[in-house]
Amino acid sequence: MDCTNAQTLLDGYLDGELDPLRNLEIEEHLHGCARCSQSYSDRQIIRGGLKTESLYFKAPADLRKRIQRSVRQAAKAEAPAGWLSWPWLRVAAPLAATALVVLMLVPIFGGPSSDELLTQDVVASHIRSLMVNHLADVRSTDEHTVKPWFNGKLDFSPPVSDLAKQGFPLVGGRLDYLNNRPVAALVYQRDKHVINVFVWPSDNSGQTVGPVKTQQGYHVIRWTSSGMNFWVVSDLEQNQLAKFTDLLKSSATTSPT
Ligand SMILES: [Zn+2]
Repeated sequence: MDCTNAQTLLDGYLDGELDPLRNLEIEEHLHGCARCSQSYSDRQIIRGGLKTESLYFKAPADLRKRIQRSVRQAAKAEAPAGWLSWPWLRVAAPLAATALVVLMLVPIFGGPSSDELLTQDVVASHIRSLMVNHLADVRSTDEHTVKPWFNGKLDFSPPVSDLAKQGFPLVGGRLDYLNNRPVAALVYQRDKHVINVFVWPSDNSGQTVGPVKTQQGYHVIRWTSSGMNFWVVSDLEQNQLAKFTDLLKSSATTSPT
């Protein structure tokens, strides 16, 4: 180690910041070099002098309190005059917070209802049955062929009736999946229009009729009867589809299930 290096490292050596190897090197150098050894001694004297009590001044005991007091006064002077401390604000602030939460929740609950989602699913199933040439798993115009076909495939027996005499011949049936469960899909035809009738058991044992909906040019008519949900979907003209559903309702109630 030369003198330049030693001078650079002296402060670190004095503060005990050097690694053991550097410590050894600088100690060796200090032993052999009078100039650097003198520098080291000077630094030790200065350091000792800086530690004497005469250089330190102890703050008076009440200084802390005076500083705290003046900080509080300064903070008060800067605060806007008063409205934050109005009593009504203590009531209004929680109300505003509640209103904000409600506003944030509205979009969550304001989305499509389960009814609207099911309508979308019914229309999508109808379109899919037309697109992928999967209209019927069992092709038959005979209700006595179609109805038994569902045996063992579903946990219920859908009412099936042929309406060929009334102009709505049965084409067949297939399994589909709606409302998180397997359902029966009965396929009817009117001229070149396909009608899908989705049937599955209902929790509701009474008679209910839902509003007619139209989506993407398809009409959806639905009702609940004899413990079954019926969803009818087609691009058939709405009056004709309504006539079809009337025929289906009356035949379902008269034919044995
Ligand atoms: Zn030296």
